[in-house]
Amino acid sequence: MMNEITLKIKKKSAQEYIKGYPLITKEAVVNFPEMEEGTILRLTDESNRFLAKGYHGNQNKGIGWILTSNESQPLDQAFFVTLFKEAFAKRQAFFNDDATTAFRIFNGEGDGLGGLTIDYYDGFLVLQWYSHGIYKWKSVLLAAIKNAIDARGIYEKRRFDAKGQYLESDDFLEGETAPEPLIVKENGINYAVYLNDGAMTGIFLDQRDVRKTICDDYAAGRTVLNTFSYTGAFSVAAAFGGASHTTNVDVANRSIPKTREQFLVNELDPAAHTIMAEDVFQYFKYANRKNLSFDLVVLDPPSFARTKKTTFSVAKDYGKLLEESITITNKNGVIVASTNYAGYSMDKFKKVVQDAFANQNRQYRIVEQFTLPADFVTRDSFKEGNYLKVLFLEVK
Ligand code: SAH
Repeated sequence: MMNEITLKIKKKSAQEYIKGYPLITKEAVVNFPEMEEGTILRLTDESNRFLAKGYHGNQNKGIGWILTSNESQPLDQAFFVTLFKEAFAKRQAFFNDDATTAFRIFNGEGDGLGGLTIDYYDGFLVLQWYSHGIYKWKSVLLAAIKNAIDARGIYEKRRFDAKGQYLESDDFLEGETAPEPLIVKENGINYAVYLNDGAMTGIFLDQRDVRKTICDDYAAGRTVLNTFSYTGAFSVAAAFGGASHTTNVDVANRSIPKTREQFLVNELDPAAHTIMAEDVFQYFKYANRKNLSFDLVVLDPPSFARTKKTTFSVAKDYGKLLEESITITNKNGVIVASTNYAGYSMDKFKKVVQDAFANQNRQYRIVEQFTLPADFVTRDSFKEGNYLKVLFLEVK
């Protein structure tokens, strides 16, 4: 059993926890004593009235997460089995859908336990641990997960070591090992994924609805530029929807064979598409020189990235990225602008879009808007948990 420490919550924050705010922050507590991560935190108000119980784990956002507001609730395996069963039951529609075999079945605080997510890849599970604190609970959580679902095999990603860097490791935990690649389906399209190949698996499941919309409504007969293209998932969806050509630009060399593979597993010919390892900003210069332009431009950069030539951060550079895109988008073409940068709300993101178009003296219309899909469950008491912002911008 974990140690338990009582923390006093400041008057102005106590109300937030009563309303169900799940994140424990340093600012909210009167005094935060030295303690081991994983410790159970019992929160009270300044008059010692019980508020909630949670655990201590350091993430960039806070120092821990609430688990229950019921004082007599033991934080034991049975508690977590119930939590997982409820979460998995919410995804029944996904389990029943043969056309989609990869989706999120547990989404951290949105499902009642911050610091842990679980993705389902055709019977295999990928657990992601976001703090040392949650990782201390691994044995009871793993037992609870196995009680709540039959998995073919289980993998884990530890996302709390070394300053945002993913430490290469063997991520296999138990059960059967997954084929490499494992072929999953999303709305009938195949994707090759690798569950034991570093931080990323080859597909970002939170973009499912965006890929479907591109495929169904924005691809037929169009030319596509996919920047920060990684394995080319957006392009494959576009090609499936009848795009006449896709151009894929990612600075990482590995993205070339990975993108070819995504086309091949769908019996699409990679040779009919352009796949380049290049810095996006270099590519814009090249496109301008060659007078290239596109009907659909996808922008889905990481929040921060450093390459040999440039440092990109959404906070500083998204406007510039949009302006470059506007100049190479055909009239009545569409820019798909996406970001998961935590520092931007949807409103702030829309302001960045507005300024970029104003700078270029161009008009636009927002024709689609997305946040996280249904399997990435979020809660109203924690709006910042809905980190995804995607806008489809029709360029006039
Ligand atoms: N849009 C992708 C995911 C992008 S992941 C998808 O939906 O699957 C971020 C990618 O950006 C990584 O593959 C990384 O190699 C690439 N990247 C980072 N900085 C870049 C730059 N300056 N130019 C081109 N690609 C970059």
